[in-house]
Amino acid sequence: MLNTKLIKEKAKSLGFASVGIAPAHKLEEAEERFGAALEEGRNADLHFLERDVDKRFDPEELLPDCKSVLVVALDYRINDKPASTRYRTARYTWVEDYHVLVKQMLAQVVEAIQQQEPNAHCRITVDSSCISEKNWAIEAGVGCIGKNSLIHNENGSFFVLGTILIDCAFDAYDSPKMSDCGNCTMCIDSCPAHALTPYKLDARKCYSYHTVENKNPDIQVLTDSPFVFGCDICQEVCPKNKKNIQNHPSVLKSSLFLRLQNEEMENLTQEDFKTNFGDTAIARRKLERFSRAIKAKKTGSSRKES
Ligand code: SF4
Ligand code: SF4
Repeated sequence: MLNTKLIKEKAKSLGFASVGIAPAHKLEEAEERFGAALEEGRNADLHFLERDVDKRFDPEELLPDCKSVLVVALDYRINDKPASTRYRTARYTWVEDYHVLVKQMLAQVVEAIQQQEPNAHCRITVDSSCISEKNWAIEAGVGCIGKNSLIHNENGSFFVLGTILIDCAFDAYDSPKMSDCGNCTMCIDSCPAHALTPYKLDARKCYSYHTVENKNPDIQVLTDSPFVFGCDICQEVCPKNKKNIQNHPSVLKSSLFLRLQNEEMENLTQEDFKTNFGDTAIARRKLERFSRAIKAKKTGSSRKES
C-alpha cells in the first residue's frame, strides 16, 4: 500500500501546483459526455479523438491491473510577457514546451513510488497516450469542469497536466470536486467566436482550434481572430485566474520569442523561427502556418487603421 501523503509531498516539492490520486476504474459518465460531443461534431475535424475511445476512460486498457491514477498540474504563468502587442499568442506558448520537463519531474515521482513498492509498475503519460487527462484530473480532484474548460477553484486554469498509471493501491484517495462557477457567465459572454455554451466548447467556432489545429483555416477567420496562435480570452476573464501568480511560480522557463517586436514577428525567417520559437509549442506547427496568421492579422489591422 503506497503512502499518499509522502508521494504527494514529493510531487509538490518538485514544483507541481496540485496533485491528486484517484482509484482506477472506467469513467462511464465521462465517456458518455465525450461520445455526445463527438456525435454533435464538436470535435471539428480532430478525427483522432474518435479513435481508441475505450482507452481514454479505462486505464486498465493502458496498464494491466492498473489500480491508481495520479494526476499533476503544472502552472505555466510567468511574470514576463511578450513585447509584441499586435500578434498575441496563448500563454502556454510563452514558456518552454512542457512535455519533456513534466516527464522528467514525473520520473522522480515514479522513483519515490518504487522506493515504497519496488515491484510497482508505472506508466507516465504527458499528452503522449490517448488517456483523457482532463477527465482523470476531474476524478482526482485536481480540477473540475468550469463553464469554459478545466478549472481549479483556487488555482485557476493556466496549467498543464501529466499522469502516472500505477498498478498499486494508495492508502487514501481524492474525490472529484464540484465547480463553483455559480451564476457567473463571464467566459461565455466574452468569447468573440460564440463558441461556448455552459460546459460545452464547439471547436468548429473556436479561434484556438482555427489558429492551432486547423490545417487550412479560412483567411477571414484568421483576420478576425484576436490571437495569431491559440486564444486565452475565456480564461483571462475568469475570476479564478485573477489570483496572485506568485502563489504558484512556474518552473517553466520563459521563451526567447517574448522579446520580439511587431515588425520582427512580421519578418520571421526560418532561422529566426528556430532560434526564437524552437523551444515552444508553436514550433510544433510550421513557420508557414504561423506567418499566414500574422499576415492575415496585419492585413486586418491595416484595414481598420485606414
Ligand atoms: S479559446 Fe477563445 S474562441 Fe475559443 S472558446 Fe475561449 S474565448 Fe472563445
Ligand atoms: S469565467 Fe465564470 S463561468 Fe467561466 S469558468 Fe470562470 S468562474 Fe466559471
